[in-house]
Amino acid sequence: MAENIVHLVLARTPDAPEGVKGISLFVVPKFLADGKRNTARCASIEHKLGIHASPTAVMVYDKAVGYVVGEENRGLEYMFIMMNAARFAVGLEGVAIAERAFQRALAYARERMLGRDLVEGKTVPIIRHPDVRRMLMLMKSQTEAMRALAYVTAAALDIAHKLKSEKHQAFAELMIPVVKGWSTETGIEVASLGVQVHGGMGFVEETGAAQYLRDARITTIYEGTTGIQAMDLVGRKISRDGGRTAKAWLEEVGKVPSNVLSAQLAAGVQAVSDCVDFICGSKDPLATFAGAVPFLKLMGIVAGGWQMARAAAIAQKNLSMTKDKAFLEAKIATAKFYGEHVLVQAPGLRDTVVKGSASVMALSEEQFLAA
Ligand SMILES: Cc1cc2nc3c(=O)[nH]c(=O)nc-3n(C[C@H](O)[C@H](O)[C@H](O)COP(=O)(O)OP(=O)(O)OC[C@H]3O[C@@H](n4cnc5c(N)ncnc54)[C@H](O)[C@@H]3O)c2cc1C
Repeated sequence: MAENIVHLVLARTPDAPEGVKGISLFVVPKFLADGKRNTARCASIEHKLGIHASPTAVMVYDKAVGYVVGEENRGLEYMFIMMNAARFAVGLEGVAIAERAFQRALAYARERMLGRDLVEGKTVPIIRHPDVRRMLMLMKSQTEAMRALAYVTAAALDIAHKLKSEKHQAFAELMIPVVKGWSTETGIEVASLGVQVHGGMGFVEETGAAQYLRDARITTIYEGTTGIQAMDLVGRKISRDGGRTAKAWLEEVGKVPSNVLSAQLAAGVQAVSDCVDFICGSKDPLATFAGAVPFLKLMGIVAGGWQMARAAAIAQKNLSMTKDKAFLEAKIATAKFYGEHVLVQAPGLRDTVVKGSASVMALSEEQFLAA
C-alpha cells in the first residue's frame, strides 16, 4: 500500500553501555536506499481486545539494516520527544471515545421507551428516569472536564514552544501524565457507563456501545500504563522540584471567581496541597508510590474541576447578555453536578494517598496465596 515502510527502532550497538544509557534510535526501512528488500519482516498480527482496525504487528529484525538517528546511545532521550506528544494524544483518545460513547448513549436514552414516569405515571423514554440521567450527567460532565483540561494543556505547550516560556512548559509537563492517565481511565469508565445506559442491548453487539469500551481499554496501557504515568507525576513532576510547579498551579486554581462548585473546588485544592506536602516530605519510596495512582486520579478530578469552575464562572457572568441562555445554563448545571458527584471524591482520595500506603503493602506474597 505504500512505497516504503520505515520503522523507528530502539536497539543497542555491540559495545553500548549497560542499561538505558546504551540505547540508540535507528531507522529501519522495509526497502533500503538501493531498492533492495531489507530483512525486517512482520511475523504475526496480534489478536486484540479492541482497536481491530489498527493492525498491531510482531516485527522481526533478524540481521536487518538500520541507520542510527542522531547520536549513538541517546535513543531514549530522542524517544521522549515523541513520548510527550504521544502521551498527550492518547489522553485525547480517551476524551474522544468518551464523547462518542456519550453521544450514542444519549441518542439511545431518548428513543428507548420503558417504565413509567415517577410523577405522571405514563410510559416514557428512559432519559426521564433519574438513574439514567445520573449516568448521562456523569458521562457528559467528566467528558467536558477532560476535554477542557486537554485544551488548556495543549495551549500551554503551544505558548511554551512559541514564547520559550519555562512556566508554561512546566505546567504542561505536570499535566501530561494527568491528561494521559486520568482521561484514559475515565474514558473507560464513561464507555462502560455507555454500555450500562443501553442495558442488555449494550452488551450485545448491535448498538456499537461495546466497541467503545473495548477500544478504550488499550488507552490506559500503551504509551505507558497508568501506573507509569503516576510514577512520572509523583517522582519527576512533583518530588523533583519540591512541589513548586504544582503549588504554583494550585494558586491559579484559587483565583477562579466564585461559582457553583467553589466549595468542592476549595476542598479539592486543599486535598492536592496536602498530598504534595506528603510526597515531598516522604522518606519512604514504597509509601510514596503506593498512592501514586490515587494521587493521579485526584489531580485529574481537581484539574477538571478547575476547568468546570472557570466555565461556570464565565457562563454566570454572561447569562444576561446572550441569546445562548440554554447553553450557558447547561454549563452551570453540569459544573454543579460535577462538583456534587465527582469533585467531592477529592478529600477521600487525599486520605487514601496520605494514610493508605501501609495497607497496600501489608500482605506478604505468601498471604496472597492463603485460602
Ligand atoms: C495494541 C498495542 C500497540 C502497541 N504499540 C506499540 C508501538 O507502536 N511501539 C512500541 O514501542 N510499543 C507499543 N506497544 C507496547 C506498549 O507501549 C506496552 O505494552 C506498554 O507500555 C506496557 O508495557 P508492558 O506491556 O511491558 O507492560 P509491563 O511493563 O509488563 O506492565 C505490567 C504491569 O506492571 C506495572 N508496572 C510495570 N513496571 C512498574 C513499576 N516500575 N512500578 C509500578 N508498576 C509497574 C504496569 O503498570 C502494569 O500494570 C503496544 C502495545 C499494544 C498492546
